[in-house]
Amino acid sequence: MSAETGATDFHASSSKALLDPSLRANFRRAMDGLMAKRAAQFPDPAEWNALRDLAASVRTRALAKLPELLETLEAKCVANGLKVHWAATTDEANAIVLAILRDHGATRLVKGKSMVSEEMHLNDFLSANGVESLETDLGEYIIQLDGETPSHIIMPAIHKNKQQIARLFGQKIRDAVYTEDVDALTATARRVLRQKFFEAEAGLSGVNFAVAETGTLCLVENEGNGRMSTHVPPIHIAVMGLEKVVERLEDVPPLLTVLTRSATGQPISTYFNMITAPRGPGEKDGPREVHLVILDNGRSRIFSDSELQVTLRCIRCGACMNYCPVYTRIGGHAYEAIYPGPIGMILTPQIEGLKRRHELPHASSLCHACTEICPVEIPITRLLVRLRKEAAQPPAGSKVLDAGGGRSRLEDLAWAGWQAAHTSPLLYRVMGTALRLFGPLAPRGLPLLNAWTKSRTVPKRAKRTLQDLVREKGIPDA
Ligand code: SF4
Repeated sequence: MSAETGATDFHASSSKALLDPSLRANFRRAMDGLMAKRAAQFPDPAEWNALRDLAASVRTRALAKLPELLETLEAKCVANGLKVHWAATTDEANAIVLAILRDHGATRLVKGKSMVSEEMHLNDFLSANGVESLETDLGEYIIQLDGETPSHIIMPAIHKNKQQIARLFGQKIRDAVYTEDVDALTATARRVLRQKFFEAEAGLSGVNFAVAETGTLCLVENEGNGRMSTHVPPIHIAVMGLEKVVERLEDVPPLLTVLTRSATGQPISTYFNMITAPRGPGEKDGPREVHLVILDNGRSRIFSDSELQVTLRCIRCGACMNYCPVYTRIGGHAYEAIYPGPIGMILTPQIEGLKRRHELPHASSLCHACTEICPVEIPITRLLVRLRKEAAQPPAGSKVLDAGGGRSRLEDLAWAGWQAAHTSPLLYRVMGTALRLFGPLAPRGLPLLNAWTKSRTVPKRAKRTLQDLVREKGIPDA
């Protein structure tokens, strides 16, 4: 990362990842498996096209009415007994969560999987403020134990194999014995986590879909930890990005069916939780208080750009990562971002700004695989090209954060020189002659050309110029 601009160095991190054979093998194996499972769920192209058209139309309709739906959602949630909080930034969202916990004297929090809480760096924030925040999704639990961040939005610990997890458990969990038996490893985590669910004073989760019509928060999960986190502790805090709202309850099934099939190749997830109210009088379980924190963090800005707005359709299925030829070779950590892969390449620069993240839209071969696989038809490659332009030469009035942040003074100078040479016949001839005469004297491997020539053949200079040939043919020089 550049100390001056805060820009991350994708080249360096991806090159490092490529040199790690075990990481590449782990990803290859995992991604091949996920692609096969997903493909088996969509055997009929006509059905797939119809389903994604429907899912895309649901998300498009929700975004078209976003401000109105958010107001309806708030009103319905409040009427149902939830407390709704709005956060413009992740700092505000963190402060809201901490204030709720402090109000109740809570120092132990159990967490279901939530990418928005990753965006907030909530665990670090809470730990710095004296709150134990424990991840309870198995993958998240594993990487938290190892002090890492997720490498995939659906399968956060996909970069690890069972041997690495066995070693980690052996080192970090009291009484855990080394075993590579996956069931035994899962049982060990379960033993630790089960106790924590009962000790925690609060639970936190993400939200997959928030239904404006009924004020229902929908949570998709496979391990039951989401249900335990939201129902066992007396307080439940849900955090969501403001784009997660949908208009009607009937909008959920079309999204759910493409989400689970695209994400893990399952026809439906093991658990689907619908949370509408805190525990009512006479009810035997459920939290006594439910809070909903709705986070903006740049989403309103994305929403205000009619072309980039489609980024907010995303339902975080992760399929674009599984199919991306770049992601599958370098894994998620090389992006140094909460959201890696194709969705991260369009979302992260828009949230964090192009000054810091101008390299990410270039981390793609534009092969189109992500766009073809996206169940809500986000034109990812088109947005990547748009962001590349925004980084180099933004249009007047651009709404993208730090537009133009990828410009390099050296590159500007080079293009200005190129333009001058190609618009002045005299300069063009002088440049051609100079290149012909002095080019061969240039030392091989000029640092400026190193990166370019590493994977390309340096063109050979012609012995005679085009002008010479034209003159020889007797064609008058223009
Ligand atoms: S961009 Fe599309 S494919 Fe990628 S995570 Fe979002 S919904 Fe899934």
